[in-house]
Amino acid sequence: MRRLIGWIFMLGVIVAGELRADETSPLVVILMGPPGSGKGTHALPLSERLQIPHISTGDLFRDNIRKETPLGKLAKSYMNQGNLVPDEVVLGMLFARIEQPDCKKGYILDGFPRTIAQAKALDEKIRKTCQLAVVNLQISDSLLIERISGRVSCKSCARCFHTKYNPPKNPSKCDSCEGTLYQRDDDKAEVLTKRLEVYHEQTGPLVAYYQKTSGVLREVDASQPKEIVLQAVVEAANVGTLALN
Ligand code: AMP
Repeated sequence: MRRLIGWIFMLGVIVAGELRADETSPLVVILMGPPGSGKGTHALPLSERLQIPHISTGDLFRDNIRKETPLGKLAKSYMNQGNLVPDEVVLGMLFARIEQPDCKKGYILDGFPRTIAQAKALDEKIRKTCQLAVVNLQISDSLLIERISGRVSCKSCARCFHTKYNPPKNPSKCDSCEGTLYQRDDDKAEVLTKRLEVYHEQTGPLVAYYQKTSGVLREVDASQPKEIVLQAVVEAANVGTLALN
């Protein structure tokens, strides 16, 4: 009997420890999906609800391009061709970012990982310390082309609008910060076709990777109206308890 009580006590200690570790371990949400599927659009409200930062590798590169840093110059030569920036460059930049103090409770990744090598490097780095949720935004190429060709982005805060589906109040100014709106070079038709090709070849296989390795991948139909997609993204990121109002 005493031995049984001892076992039950030990089990209780282990379970309590597991629960505590889970509550306190940072939440990493990976928003996956082709260019134009709405990763950036949904990452912003998700970040507000979860109170963790939104990290877009594309935005980090564009920031470096604006500041004309060596990293920006290097990245631009790949981005303007619709190609991926080499893994080691992306990994160095991203890992430096997630070590910042604001990432202690977790973060939302938008546009990363984009290759199996990047996913493996991330797994290696966070596997033992974080909870992971991977949300895949699914959408057809034809809808993407329509969405991206009308997309305009803010030069200051990177917020995106669509000239037809989500128009800014003033066609040349951002509703949030009054920054100037522009069409990204890589959103122009000729580069976009290449980006979609690269997506299907190099990033597409990540869906199977996450299904196989961790079973944490959840699919969301991104062709639905914005509010419905956001609701699904919030639930898929495992925060269904946070009410959407
Ligand atoms: P995005 O804003 O996410 O569409 O990214 C714009 C461009 O930045 C991509 O087409 C790539 O050239 C580059 N880029 C962003 N994230 C990555 C990444 N994780 N790996 C490689 N290149 C990236």
